[in-house]
Amino acid sequence: MESLKEMVLKFAEERDWVQFHSPKNLAMSVAVEASELLECFMWLTPEQSANLSKDQLAHVSDEIGDVLICLVNLAARLGIDPLASAGEKFRKNAEKYPVEKSKGSAKKYDEL
Ligand SMILES: [Mg+2]
Repeated sequence: MESLKEMVLKFAEERDWVQFHSPKNLAMSVAVEASELLECFMWLTPEQSANLSKDQLAHVSDEIGDVLICLVNLAARLGIDPLASAGEKFRKNAEKYPVEKSKGSAKKYDEL
């Protein structure tokens, strides 16, 4: 993750793009790239979405990369360690979704 963060920051610095990378703009870029990821699956049946062609899979891979790059950039600009964030969210989610209540259920924690 550190090397990805360094690559993302270096890429922007070399192009003088840091001036455009406010947290607001980076948060928006995460949503835009996530939408591009969704577009890969738009109108597909669940079965089709689970059996993508090689080209479709390459496109999904590109968009996953874009989402991660934007997210790493946002986290870096805010001084947040995204892996620590994910670890903390897992701890919180485990409390909200105890196995005995949530196993096999798609209900939200406040409906369990
Ligand atoms: Mg994209």
